[in-house]
Amino acid sequence: MDLDKIAELFGVRVAETKDLHPDHHGMYIHHRRLILLRAGLDGWNYRSIFAHELAHAFYRDEVHGDTRAEKRANQWAAQLLISKDEYRAAELLHGPHPGAIAHELGVTPDVVKTWCDIFMRATIR
Ligand SMILES: [Zn+2]
Repeated sequence: MDLDKIAELFGVRVAETKDLHPDHHGMYIHHRRLILLRAGLDGWNYRSIFAHELAHAFYRDEVHGDTRAEKRANQWAAQLLISKDEYRAAELLHGPHPGAIAHELGVTPDVVKTWCDIFMRATIR
């Protein structure tokens, strides 16, 4: 999934910066249609945080730190980053280990855990 293309579709610019609050690796500024990502992130964090901020752009979130908005963004990002087929292939290779699956899929373990939460809830219902 080409995240830059999605940003372009959303009309959102992306910039890397070293001037983010230490607690945040990324930020979406709605009134400027701008995603800020911490400069120097590794590929796994970069994709995971980029997708999370794209979710805020998708939902037009203007408030930062709202628990429900953060959860919604995490779920949207997980579904954007991981397809069922990709997950199954990674699980076949590595077994049910979120860390190894995350490494294989190019995302952080948190994204895999979020994805599993969604998927398991979907199969239980
Ligand atoms: Zn967020």
